[in-house]
Amino acid sequence: MTPPTGRLAPSPTGYLHLGHARTFLLAWWQARSAGGRLLLRFEDLDRGRVRAGMERAAIEDLEWLGIDWDGPIVRQSERGALYREALAQLDAQGLLYPCVCSRREIAEAQSAPQGEGAAAYPGTCRGRFQSPAEARRKTGREPALRMRVPPGLRTVRDEIRGLYREDLAREVGDFPVTRRDGEIAYQLAVVVDDHDQGVNEVLRGDDLLPSTLRQALLQESLGLPHPRWFHVPLVVDEQGQRLAKRRGETALAALRAAGVRPGAIVRWAALSAGAEERGEGLAAAYLPGFDLGRLPAEPALTFSQASD
Ligand code: GLU
Repeated sequence: MTPPTGRLAPSPTGYLHLGHARTFLLAWWQARSAGGRLLLRFEDLDRGRVRAGMERAAIEDLEWLGIDWDGPIVRQSERGALYREALAQLDAQGLLYPCVCSRREIAEAQSAPQGEGAAAYPGTCRGRFQSPAEARRKTGREPALRMRVPPGLRTVRDEIRGLYREDLAREVGDFPVTRRDGEIAYQLAVVVDDHDQGVNEVLRGDDLLPSTLRQALLQESLGLPHPRWFHVPLVVDEQGQRLAKRRGETALAALRAAGVRPGAIVRWAALSAGAEERGEGLAAAYLPGFDLGRLPAEPALTFSQASD
């Protein structure tokens, strides 16, 4: 059996928080306990949201917790040529079409009476233009490229959640693989990168489970194998709300500055994942005997010093 290769794929758009710490520790334990590799990739394609200094901060946070990684750090912003190749491959199969719809127009189409509550792209630009050049000429707008989604129920297997099914065409519709500003969309970049980097295990927060069907469709269309997916429950606060990056008080950098010990966070993450008590220590302290099978199905309650 090929040893697993996993990855940590933070977006440098804000400070890492406790939810990242737990997911990344789980990814580290999962890869390392199987003698596998773990890569670090910064997902920095969304230039409007990337913030200076966040890569450096993420690296400090990971090192603080005792999480290491293999090989050079990869940045999506440096990999445009690979993504363009994949786009050409999809385009050659007739799977892409230009779309000039703005977010607002899509939202308006969705709130049409019969589409009450619908979230899917209604297909406005499907079959409308022969080429991106024609779309530009006829509308004066820069088009995005959308992937055609075939109708019908699609299924992926998640190692934690089991089978996940959705009628992707109905629930999501044709989805963008490039944005109107020319940037590559997350769904395509992730698929291209995971394959190119030899990633065969993707452990990440279960907020990304719905994206998995889009990624699986792209993998099938590009002739790529699926990785094994492990979607782990998120961390929630006392009100049951998921931690968001904006919530500064759960940022690892803020906890560090407040004198919280990394060992306390590692212990919290390990115990919340069903590990046996071993006291405070860095990531390696909880590596022996790590078993993802003990992970509870419910969201984890956020770390608080009061819980000691
Ligand atoms: N970059 C994404 C995030 O920070 C994670 C993507 C992934 O793990 O596939 O939410």
